[in-house]
Amino acid sequence: MQLYNTLSAEERAQLIDEAGKQRLTLSFYAYAKISDPKKFRDELFIAWNALDALGRIYVAHEGINAQMSIPADQIEAFRNTLEVYDFMKGIRLNVAIDQDDHSFLKLTIKVRYKIVADGLNDETFDVTNKGIHLKAQEFNNLMGDPNTIVVDFRNHYESEVGHFEGAITPDVETFRESLPIINEQLQDFKEDKNLLMYCTGGIRCEKASAYFKHQGFKNVYQLEGGIIEYTRQIKEEAIESKFIGKNFVFDHRLGERITDDIVSQCHQCGKPCDNHTNCANEGCHLLFIQCDDCKVAMENCCSTECLDIIHLPLSEQVKLRKGKEVGNKVFRKGKSETLKFKKSGDSPNKPLAKVETKNIRQKIAVKKVLVGKAEHYYTKSKIAQFLIENNEISIGDKVLISGPTTGEQELRISKIFANGGACETGKIGDQITFEIPFRIRLSDKLYKVLG
Ligand SMILES: [Zn+2]
Ligand SMILES: [Zn+2]
Repeated sequence: MQLYNTLSAEERAQLIDEAGKQRLTLSFYAYAKISDPKKFRDELFIAWNALDALGRIYVAHEGINAQMSIPADQIEAFRNTLEVYDFMKGIRLNVAIDQDDHSFLKLTIKVRYKIVADGLNDETFDVTNKGIHLKAQEFNNLMGDPNTIVVDFRNHYESEVGHFEGAITPDVETFRESLPIINEQLQDFKEDKNLLMYCTGGIRCEKASAYFKHQGFKNVYQLEGGIIEYTRQIKEEAIESKFIGKNFVFDHRLGERITDDIVSQCHQCGKPCDNHTNCANEGCHLLFIQCDDCKVAMENCCSTECLDIIHLPLSEQVKLRKGKEVGNKVFRKGKSETLKFKKSGDSPNKPLAKVETKNIRQKIAVKKVLVGKAEHYYTKSKIAQFLIENNEISIGDKVLISGPTTGEQELRISKIFANGGACETGKIGDQITFEIPFRIRLSDKLYKVLG
């Protein structure tokens, strides 16, 4: 019986593209009493692997916490695999707004001590004595009460790109860290203020609300289903969004736009920007905010030091990396002295700018000719392969890569490799490769921009 992944992320991405089926990104959690988490884990793996379900899932004695990608046509079958368990009957699945077929490329189910690292000693208080759950409209109403304090229970890099208006956004790197800090900050308000708490999907508040009640807070409320469910409700019921900016998410998208407000700055130049990225130096991988201009100038690096490193031969880079503990790479907490405009825990109440809505007319005005189609993407070296079917492409040409997931991305070609060697021009029938600062999809088309 297969209980673990056998495909690489790259192979999986290719299979998904070839299948051409729509997938849904979703999340859910449930607190429960699970006597044998290992057995529970294996049962889930077998059931989900059969449905081609992917994701990152934690199970523990205290429950389950899952972020997943499910084939859209298997969603009912997937729900059935959950409803086998009493504690997941009627469970709410938080479905993401932006859909990306590549949000997860593996099925990883891990047994952990806890489903959220909260650092709490659960024996010392009643975890079932939770705060009052609020729906979006109720949350908005209570926010308007001058007696209310709104607290963001997420980490600094999450609240930095989006948060509720006027919320306290603690400068913490982990949920565990935030609990005593908030308790301290709000010492004097335990009796008479409403403590309104929220997080991404509700899981962190679920137990924290019980903890704060135990700490003596009288009026504890939590946003039911977190920002994800709030967003769904405000859209469905046309409620005003009091959340501004983006909702940070833990898959490769790194954020879902909720409103067109930008509340953060590019960490390198200070321009309003809310696009998180990871430093291109594999030995650094720092999570930080970088605008398009800085991305080009710095080649997606967080510092000149990293920029120097990525220009070294790969073998040198590997040598430098040796012995350095990168740890939790993708989400290495975005703090570094070189980032001048990083503002942790100090969120502006008013947006800094609005997202520029793309001018459709202008887009059509871009003159372009179809050159070819995407054939492959080499994740490790960030290289794209295209097959040239029409026209030619030369060094110095401006190209447009376009597709449903990629959107429209323009760049200028500085090097081309065709049929195994560097060349000036790729001709019809050539398979060409070049470096690219983003992942292309097999559905992408390559255009040459004219004029
Ligand atoms: Zn910048
Ligand atoms: Zn770096």
